[in-house]
Amino acid sequence: MKVIKHSEEVLKVALISKDTQLVRLYDKFEPKEKLLLNEAFQPDSLLFKPITLHSDSDWISSHPEPTQDFAQFYRHPCRNIPSPQKSHIYIQPIGSFGDSTVTTDVYMRWVKDYCEAFYNGLTVRILGPEPVLHTNCAFRVNEYTHNLQIHAGMGIFSFARYDSDFYSANYKGKLKTTKKLSPTDYSVFDGYYTPEVTSILLLRSCKTLTHEIGHIFGLHHCQWLQCVMQGSNHLEESDRRPLDLCPICLRKLQSALGFNITERYKALKRWMEEEANGTEAELSNEAQLGLRKPVEAFKESYDWIVKCLEILQK
Ligand SMILES: [Zn+2]
Ligand SMILES: [Zn+2]
Repeated sequence: MKVIKHSEEVLKVALISKDTQLVRLYDKFEPKEKLLLNEAFQPDSLLFKPITLHSDSDWISSHPEPTQDFAQFYRHPCRNIPSPQKSHIYIQPIGSFGDSTVTTDVYMRWVKDYCEAFYNGLTVRILGPEPVLHTNCAFRVNEYTHNLQIHAGMGIFSFARYDSDFYSANYKGKLKTTKKLSPTDYSVFDGYYTPEVTSILLLRSCKTLTHEIGHIFGLHHCQWLQCVMQGSNHLEESDRRPLDLCPICLRKLQSALGFNITERYKALKRWMEEEANGTEAELSNEAQLGLRKPVEAFKESYDWIVKCLEILQK
């Protein structure tokens, strides 16, 4: 295992910068906010730890990329900042999920509420689900795993891939027949297996979705500290990265969205506390279906947020 340990000075410059205008901007944070952000360069911080590489197949080992500090992010000419005309995040579900379309609706609402807490201040809208047919994407059965794959040619987040069994011989989505697929016949997706809704699936969904949306705002892969913006090459590496941002990426996002750091953590904490949130009609619908938001897998992240809030509310 290799530890990527940056010096105190390097992390301090990555966070605050040496540019006097950006230093002044940093000084506008409340003293308690700065106390939390400065944890980035405390050598023995319990909140923000150095990135560890476990094998040559980890992202940083296999995809060398330039680093991006706060100043590089802030000065980037094509940085995406929300405006009155551009203030929504749209999520387009493709295909159905779980054993019914209602499960898809409920699950997407949990994910949407999480994204709204994470991208505090923005509105997230879920578009009506589209069948795979409407995407015109090519598909194939992987010759090694026998899993059905869609070729998207763009950023697509696949729920199936986050099933604990996806890479195992026991994965229930394997196609049993070896019959030739027609490129225009999408009926193979009708009733196709989708993973069971579990807490770990919800955790992985929230993590991957917020990571991908982070790129839309111009955040590059994080190479400073353990962070949800770390690149990941495989499921084990993705599971290893934390659910939230390091202080450097948090400052980047805060400068784009202008949220209050404490309020954002409070919103994330609330989402993890409320096993059931939503309108009364939505909740009674979920109760009838026997669905409740499974938040067990978020315990570690919850405890971490509580510690951050302790610093912010000291
Ligand atoms: Zn990425
Ligand atoms: Zn980061």
